[in-house]
Amino acid sequence: MTVDKALVTKTISLKEYGINNAKVNYQLSPKKLHQISIEKGMGQEASSGALVINTGEFTGRSPKDRFLVKDEITADKVWWGDINLPFDTEKFDALYNKVTDYLSGKELYVRDCYACADKEYRLNIRVINEYPWSNLFAYNMFLRPGEETLENFTADWTVVNAPGFKANPETDGTRQHNFAILNFKRKIVLIGGTGYTGEIKKGIFSALNFLLPVYANTLPMHCSANVGKKGDTSIFFGLSGTGKTTLSADPTRKLIGDDEHGWTSENSVFNFEGGCYAKVINLSEENEPDIYGAIKEGALLENVVVKENGEVDFGNTSITPNTRVSYPIYHIKNIQQPSIGYTPKNIFFLTADAFGVLPPISKLTPGQAAYHFISGYTAKVAGTEDGVDEPVPSFSACFGAPFMPLHPAKYAEMLSAKMKESGVNVWLVNTGWTGGPYGVGKRMALKYTRAMIQAAMSGNLGEICYENYHIHSVFGLAQPRSCPNVPSEILSSRKTWNNDEGYYKKAHQLADAFKENFKKFASYANEETKVGGPLV
Ligand code: ATP
Ligand code: MN
Repeated sequence: MTVDKALVTKTISLKEYGINNAKVNYQLSPKKLHQISIEKGMGQEASSGALVINTGEFTGRSPKDRFLVKDEITADKVWWGDINLPFDTEKFDALYNKVTDYLSGKELYVRDCYACADKEYRLNIRVINEYPWSNLFAYNMFLRPGEETLENFTADWTVVNAPGFKANPETDGTRQHNFAILNFKRKIVLIGGTGYTGEIKKGIFSALNFLLPVYANTLPMHCSANVGKKGDTSIFFGLSGTGKTTLSADPTRKLIGDDEHGWTSENSVFNFEGGCYAKVINLSEENEPDIYGAIKEGALLENVVVKENGEVDFGNTSITPNTRVSYPIYHIKNIQQPSIGYTPKNIFFLTADAFGVLPPISKLTPGQAAYHFISGYTAKVAGTEDGVDEPVPSFSACFGAPFMPLHPAKYAEMLSAKMKESGVNVWLVNTGWTGGPYGVGKRMALKYTRAMIQAAMSGNLGEICYENYHIHSVFGLAQPRSCPNVPSEILSSRKTWNNDEGYYKKAHQLADAFKENFKKFASYANEETKVGGPLV
């Protein structure tokens, strides 16, 4: 008889963490975690076989409740401010003890896993979860060590995740009852009061975003990545909802990863994670077949509404518009294994411009690339009470400021150097509105965005010259005049408006917002970067 090694159960003690008398479920299979979640009444199975759960009070990250312990490691390296909030060492120790007391005596789920697909950079992680489905998330999203390496596994970092624990802001030093705190000295990510799983992965991402540039001369990036048949790597930067996950899932290219990567000094690009975390609002099999197909047994759907027949109603946003699914990367058919690519040939900056101003695709000069990277523009569509929705410009340095502990100039410098050295093409892609701003125009059709990206990657947009490109009079961006499989009229945002006056008014408004935002970085930027901004 052969024994399935994965089924051999071993257990571990959590005493060294100060967690006593816990019933530890160590390294359970996804199937088992799925089953337990249902048995405990925490989830249900969709007709696709995926587990559906509700993350509770929080259905998104809570950036105002994310802290970094300020100590001798971080004090003079972190860019402290509204994004990187300091937390006291003593307060952390006290809160940690409260959380571990809370977890003591409970049934817990523990997983040993790692981040960073390149073994040179591997970071071993132990995730301790209060809930079984959070542990399934950890299985899906982190890299999965082989049985043999589990034997002498030692964690470099530990994630302690207690969604049911509520802090007392007055005594614990938090803002409110929920928190996510990174401690670089103790190498702990402490999460309480929130069940939103994204906090787990973004906690480790934030840790790597500090560790890799400081200790390993590697640029961490909030981007997706894939690789073509000829080994050409593309990376896609962008804030939440701009299309990193959607556009990197391309059946003609091998997926490296959908959200977090490092660019090493040896010019390789590696995924930090072992899975994807896709938005599923309005997901359709027709538009996004790869992601749709990945939602099967093993996948974890969050905050979606299930119909009576067991099918998921992806159009229903009654719990949150931020409905999500996590799945291990091998649920996608065409993947690069291990998740490593070589020097990027093309970089895409994705923006969902709800003002409908930026061209759907444009090519950036090195100065423009640096400027737009530091700016990290997208637009948020905020609903107001009377139903009139006004887009708000949103700038997030390096297209990921909430996860970047160092000053944005540090990441920008590293990227600029890498861009120069590699001669990579850099493109700005507006996956947002066309034909007018939000409320008037509509979101760019996915098939056109895909066609533009395809054309850029295959060199079909041609060299920069007057015949091929028009220079945008406000932003100075080179926008192609034609693109295979895309109607030429949509390549100019201005033309899609049919209202030049209205268009230029909005364009100037947006340019002003860029300039206002850039002021705080001006003293760090060189001349080339400064002239990469709007022309007016
Ligand atoms: P996060 O950082 O939160 O994971 P993301 O950058 O990965 O965000 P996606 O999950 O890819 O963003 O979300 C993009 C959303 O926008 C999807 O729901 C997608 O269907 C939708 N969408 C609509 N039109 C487009 C387009 N032209 N290009 C890209 N995405 C589009
Ligand atoms: Mn994503």
